Amino acid sequence: MAQVKDPVCGMMIEAETANSTSTYQGKTYYFCSPGCKTAFERDPEKYVGGEQAKKAGTAS
Ligand SMILES: [Zn+2]
Repeated sequence: MAQVKDPVCGMMIEAETANSTSTYQGKTYYFCSPGCKTAFERDPEKYVGGEQAKKAGTAS
């Protein structure tokens, strides 16, 4: 019964009942709707790169 965050809209959803999933760089992401999945797959870096971008920004 793990709750996961939809990286596109930020909604908390149950992993087991997620509408859509997508695997990116070996990690599975869960979405509340096909629209969120489509948005994620169009530009995954925009949604998963947040923390890394922050680190990179500090480094450079
Ligand atoms: Zn969503």
